[in-house]
Amino acid sequence: MNKVYITTTIPYVNAKPHIGHALEFVQADVLARYYRQTGSNVRFQTGTDENALTNVLAARVQGIEPQELVNRNSAFFQNLCEALKISNDEFIRTTEKRHEGAVQYFWTQLNPEDLFLKSYSGLYCTGCEDFYLERDLVDGVCPDHGTKPVIVEEENYFFRLSSYQQQLAELISSGKIRIYPETRKEEILNFIQGGLHDISISRSTKRSGNWGIRVPGDPSQVIYVWIDALINYLSGIGYGNSNRWKSFWNTGTKKVHVIGKNVWKFHAVYWPALLISAGLPVPDEIVIHGFLTEKGQKISKSKGKTIDPITLIDQYGPDAVRYSLLSNASPFSDWDFSTEKLEASHNNNLANGLGNLISRVTTLCHRAGYGRYEDRSTISDFKGIHDVIQSYSYEKALKIIWEKITKINQDIDRKKPWVLLNEGKLPELRARLTEWLNVISGIRCALSPFLPDTSERISGILSQNPIIPAPVLFPKIKTDL
Ligand SMILES: [Zn+2]
Repeated sequence: MNKVYITTTIPYVNAKPHIGHALEFVQADVLARYYRQTGSNVRFQTGTDENALTNVLAARVQGIEPQELVNRNSAFFQNLCEALKISNDEFIRTTEKRHEGAVQYFWTQLNPEDLFLKSYSGLYCTGCEDFYLERDLVDGVCPDHGTKPVIVEEENYFFRLSSYQQQLAELISSGKIRIYPETRKEEILNFIQGGLHDISISRSTKRSGNWGIRVPGDPSQVIYVWIDALINYLSGIGYGNSNRWKSFWNTGTKKVHVIGKNVWKFHAVYWPALLISAGLPVPDEIVIHGFLTEKGQKISKSKGKTIDPITLIDQYGPDAVRYSLLSNASPFSDWDFSTEKLEASHNNNLANGLGNLISRVTTLCHRAGYGRYEDRSTISDFKGIHDVIQSYSYEKALKIIWEKITKINQDIDRKKPWVLLNEGKLPELRARLTEWLNVISGIRCALSPFLPDTSERISGILSQNPIIPAPVLFPKIKTDL
């Protein structure tokens, strides 16, 4: 049995989740559900990054303890996963003891020659939790946060990233670590070939507000939150606690990180180098998605009011939100999310396309006295979809499914089954209905990773004996347009 280990990044929890988080959860969930369906042994993990200094700052503003803040906000992310029907096997929080132990153990496994202490002074953005070079700032401010970095001077532990430059370039250019999409691969290779500097991987415990995981043997330093966060991919499968992790972090498992375009430096450069230094295998695939915008503006937790994904799910249901996030554009591109787009795709494709098909075929079944239908489809029968899902082109997969839906709706219009009904040619009608039910059953399978609830409902409808007219799957939304 193939083994696949799929992860999302773990978001900062200094605020509630936004629709961009929902996007990444849903993309990774499609993969996990798809591979399970094809018979693979899947492990799917998400979680929350809680040791960041931003949490300490956010808690301070609210007059509460950092732990209280992260407990509350982590729960919002867990709720979002549940509401979106995310099928994660694990939710790891980096303030958990099991994570702390794994991070400290990982540190001790790093090649000692890769670690050294150095006094350092640099421009630091607290939002990014990262140092910037003067040349990387835009008009003197952080390109992501628009805030002026502060000069930080302290003694830190460094990791000899520079000595991995050649090895990393080879891993990525050869496709041993496969980067999706190709344009990002070029970007990463350019970055590596531009020269890698050694990186600071600890912070002063004092400046971190006593928050974070201590460096083993040196309580004056905490481990840089980004290094700590990356290790969640190991701690969540038991690294540092038992040998269980070896069954998913080995060369025989396909290890896939689904990440956003702002964090490839950590995942495609720092992380593989750290893994090699610790004597561990590197990830196999890194899938880098684009960002959602709202009214052309970057969606940011720190900037005012944004669309709350939970409100959307309450209003339209999880599958309408999933469909909108997955069908509108390539996962690799940036695009503008809006409630209007969600409503339009809901009405046109879900209500009119799919919903209408199920409704008319089941009504015909009922009128033709159709008895029991044997639903035998599996995902492997559905041709043309596997390559596109495995190369993360979810919008193309949905297009293929919707072409089938449109085709069968047109076929019904053309073959006019109600004429057979009026002429009393029921056996002939029932034979024709079986053909259509077979296609619907295939569609049900192919939809399952994308719209799990809907797929299950169709399954229930097809298994009724006799088949009765189905309830409305997607009630049309009244719009102003
Ligand atoms: Zn920043």
